[in-house]
Amino acid sequence: MRKIVIAGNWKMYKTQAETTEFLQGFMPELEKTPEDREVVICPPFTALDAISRSLHGSLVQLGAQNIHWEDNGAFTGEVAGSMLSEIGVRYVIVGHSERRQYFGETDESVNKRLLSAQRHGLIPILCVGETKQQRDAGETESIITNQLEKDLVNVDQQRLVIAYEPIWAIGTGDTCESSEANRVIGLIRSQLSNADVTIQYGGSVKPDNIDEIMAQPEIDGVLVGGASLQPASFARIVNYQ
Ligand code: PGA
Repeated sequence: MRKIVIAGNWKMYKTQAETTEFLQGFMPELEKTPEDREVVICPPFTALDAISRSLHGSLVQLGAQNIHWEDNGAFTGEVAGSMLSEIGVRYVIVGHSERRQYFGETDESVNKRLLSAQRHGLIPILCVGETKQQRDAGETESIITNQLEKDLVNVDQQRLVIAYEPIWAIGTGDTCESSEANRVIGLIRSQLSNADVTIQYGGSVKPDNIDEIMAQPEIDGVLVGGASLQPASFARIVNYQ
């Protein structure tokens, strides 16, 4: 049985005070959430500790947005796996396209970060996906195959989530057709050694498209940016039909 994982990626949004306010609106909505799904919130590093205490004992798991590959050292501005696991972090997003695009992440560094996450008992959410230009050039399959090959070297596929995030659909309101997302996710699955890996779709997921996305047979969850920032919209997504 593949696990359903619904994750909110808050990116660089929400102070601790705003996080507390979000939880006041969001947590009561979870009373009707079926137990077949795992809910993850990935706030900025500064809100992790505060949220960890409020989430304790709830059905929501804590996720981080990045992790360094070394266990400690002279790496200004980075955060190590032990620091995350100590405060109750369970998931970590690795290789998000914004990290690849703006912060120079390569498949090699993504691979090292995945291995570090697993070494510290965290479940990485590996993001893969193509640009609009690559899609238009018919390169979607080859780009994703190449990312998977390089990113997953020595990675334990029993403790992994993958998010298919077409870059052109992120933050644009331009969602990938759910049948097309299903097709690409099927292709990703066919390249894994463990066919039971949870594979999410990400890119302009909203309350009005979540039901259709989750009805697709290959899609095991979603990675949500903008629509995870408001309690009502994220609650609607988490409580999809
Ligand atoms: P979006 O972001 O839902 O705002 O498109 C998704 C993501 O970047 O993970």
